[in-house]
This record gives sequence, structure tokens and C-alpha cells, in this order.
Amino acid sequence: MVHANGSLIKGRAHWAQEKPVSEPAWPAPPVGDRTLPNALDMEVAILGAGIHGAALARELKLRGVACALVDKGEVGGGTSQWSSQLLHGGIRYMLTGDLRQMREGLLERATWARIAPRRCRWEAFWMPHRFWAEGLAHRFGIGLYDHWGAERPGWPDSLVLGHVPSEAFQADPRSPGSPFRGATAYADLMTWDRELTKDLAASAEAVLLDFHEPEGFEDAGGALKALRLRDRRDGTLRRLSARQWVFALGPWTDGALTHWFGETRQRLRLSSGIHLWFDAVPGCERPWAIRRPKGRILFVIPRDGLLQVGTTEREVEDGWVPIVSTEREELFEALEHHLPAVPWRRMPIRSEELGVRPLVTSSGATAHLSREAVLERHERFANLTLVLGGKLTTARALMDQLATDLTGQTTPASKTEPLRLWDGHSAQIR
Ligand SMILES: Cc1cc2nc3c(=O)[nH]c(=O)nc-3n(C[C@H](O)[C@H](O)[C@H](O)COP(=O)(O)OP(=O)(O)OC[C@H]3O[C@@H](n4cnc5c(N)ncnc54)[C@H](O)[C@@H]3O)c2cc1C
Repeated sequence: MVHANGSLIKGRAHWAQEKPVSEPAWPAPPVGDRTLPNALDMEVAILGAGIHGAALARELKLRGVACALVDKGEVGGGTSQWSSQLLHGGIRYMLTGDLRQMREGLLERATWARIAPRRCRWEAFWMPHRFWAEGLAHRFGIGLYDHWGAERPGWPDSLVLGHVPSEAFQADPRSPGSPFRGATAYADLMTWDRELTKDLAASAEAVLLDFHEPEGFEDAGGALKALRLRDRRDGTLRRLSARQWVFALGPWTDGALTHWFGETRQRLRLSSGIHLWFDAVPGCERPWAIRRPKGRILFVIPRDGLLQVGTTEREVEDGWVPIVSTEREELFEALEHHLPAVPWRRMPIRSEELGVRPLVTSSGATAHLSREAVLERHERFANLTLVLGGKLTTARALMDQLATDLTGQTTPASKTEPLRLWDGHSAQIR
């Protein structure tokens, strides 16, 4: 299945964390004038090429600072390809009362729509209500959400917000037999997370060391000096030295710090979430966001000729865990309870994916952009910053802040410079 942006439909990336035995051989390393040197010296080295690492590399490029972007897999091959793919203010924060985080997300949403129009699509999400008073509360909350999120570059006039006419609601195949009596539509921005991450990397023009496994660090008097790396594609050993280091390893941060430096402090709490992808159901045209207990939302989103459904929350121990049957079952039960007219269990699952949210548990942060995103200066290595937690939505803003801290330079271009589309390479050898 090929989606609107011309790349393959979501599913696990081939080269994510550990190459499954059944996978074909590694991709070829770069050749010709893209061949990587065996020794590199950079101002900044970034480990982890998810949305945070890639966004930071772009910020450094905008400030004229040379950096290397290292990943043991492919760019965007971790959590940043398993999200719900929304650049959002977070309508759930309206329910949990975290309005500051919501407004921050709404501002960032507009920035993404400006700098990445090819990877963004505005949508009118329907939030269904069970009874009249709930509908009134939704209309009030959603009215505020859309008022604070009124900056919507590229918003198509064809999308209508607010009260959903009852004929339109009744005509949707999800309505019959459901506990819902009507719906209110709010605006949010859909994206293609892996492609967005790759575009950020392409816009960075960093030296890209993807498929490189870190093998050992050299430190010098309380600072990191160099990293020895092995190219997983052909076994070549490389040495990367840098003045500043940033680890943006998503849910693998704690595990890596234990493995590399013997640290035992737990900075993250990991929570997995799954999505199931079904064939499109004719007549399901708008995405639905259904309120569930504890401020959670069940999304049912038509996209790319399929129907994406998610998500769940389960505490896990590692960034790489399989889907368990209870998780899948929980989603089916929620779907059958809320939308009984759709024969969910008889519809083949075209694809399923699990992502692990890195949630912050640490204190002692040096910067705090939002409840879920923290920049922490490492206590042992003065030139190492850890990126903890966060979301796709706030990644650009957080990395703008980090790049300013690292270089002492600000740049307005971060919010306006359009992203370059990924061309499959991005490595610029200096
Ligand atoms: C189910 C789910 C739904 C979500 N929905 C949304 C949403 O709708 N909107 C939103 O804004 N956010 C959402 N999020 C949050 C968002 O997806 C993540 O916070 C974000 O993608 C994390 O990006 P990252 O760059 O920090 O980590 P990652 O994308 O995981 O990147 C870390 C990188 O580090 C690499 N790595 C790991 N170990 C090593 C090592 N030893 N050496 C070298 N490289 C290594 C990995 O290969 C990976 O590429 C969701 C998350 C989940 C799980």
C-alpha cells in the first residue's frame, strides 16, 4: 500500500532496532562522494535520529554549526514512526486541565503547518457525545480549543467545525447502535511521522551515521571526548569526536546509559500504545476522537485508504516489546462498546504497530518546556545533554531551545524555513 506521500504504508521499519532474522540484507553503505570517512570531528554529536535528534540537527544547520547524527537503525525508525501521527494541541488536555501544554501544542501545530505543508493535513475531528449536556460541554471546550488554535495556515474551507448536523452524524456507519447522539467537530493536524522525521534530517544536512552501533566512549576529565562506532552494514569502524554531545534516544535512554556507563538511575517511565490498521470502511470520512475514562481518547481515523484505530496504555520495561493479546483485546472491546455497528473482529487487520512513550520521571532538569519534555544536563559529563520524554508536536520548539543553549545563537528561521523533502540520502560529507 502506497500512501499519499508516495512512501510505503506504515508498519515496522525494516531496519529499526534489531534486524529480524527474516529481513533481507542490510542496505548498502553510501559510496562515491558520499563515502563516510573513518574519523570525524564535529562541533556537536547527536545520538538518536528520531524526531528530536533530527529536529536538533536542523536547528544546528540553521545556526551554521556542523553536527553528526548517529543512529543504530534508520532515521525515524524508532518511536517516531509509531505515534498517532497528530500534531496537536491535545484535546485531552481540555479534559485534564493542562491548558498551558495545550496552548503550547496549538502554537507549534501552526508552525508545523507552515514549515512542513507537504507532510501535514488539516482535519475536522468529530468528538461524539452521549447526551445533551455532554454535547454542550464539548461545544464549549472545543470552541475554546479552536479559538486558541485559530492560527491554521492552509486550512481548507471545505472543513466545517462546531456542531455536526444530525443527518451527517446519522449517515456515518459508526453511528448506528452506538451510545452517541451527536458530535462536535474540532480542528487538528495530521502528519506522517516517519516522513516528517526524515524531512527534518534531510533539512539538516548533517553527517548521517545511520546503521551505526556505538561500541565505546572515550572520556576526558568529566567530559565526553569521542565515540567508537561500527557500521552495521559492512563492519567498518569509525571514530567520532565532538565538543558537545546530545543523547535523544527516546525510550532506549535508560537502557543505553546503563549499558554504556553503568548508570542505574531511572529517568523514564515507559508506556506502550498500539494502533491497528483496517481496510477503509465506506462512509467513514471524518476521524473520530472518542473520550474514554482517565482522559484517554480512542481515535478512529480514515487515512491513506485505511482506517487507523488506537491507542492503548500499558507500562513496559523496554523500548522494544511485542504487542500482547490483552492489548489488542482491549482495543477491540473499546471499539465494540463504542461503535458496535462496525464488524471489527471480522475485518482483517492490515497492519498493527506498537510504540513506546518515554514519560519523564526525573527531577533536576535544566530546562522544562512542558510536563512531558525535559532537557537534562548529565551529572558526570558536563558536555552531554539528555533529551527526555516529549512529543512530535513540541519537538521542534524543544530542539530550538536546546540549539540556542548549545550555540548561544537564536534563529527566527526555525519557525519559517520550509523543510526539504527526504531524498533517501541526506548525508553531507564535509
Ligand atoms: C502510541 C504512541 C502515540 C503517540 N502519538 C503522538 C501524537 O499523536 N502526537 C505527538 O506529538 N506525539 C505522539 N507520541 C509521542 C512521540 O511519538 C514520541 O514522543 C517521539 O516520537 C519520541 O521521539 P524521540 O526522537 O525522542 O525518540 P525515537 O523516535 O524513539 O528516537 C530514538 C532513536 O534512538 C535510536 N537509538 C536507540 N538506541 C540507540 C543506541 N544504542 N545507539 C544509537 N541509536 C539508538 C533509535 O533507533 C531511534 O531512532 C506518541 C507516542 C506513542 C508511543
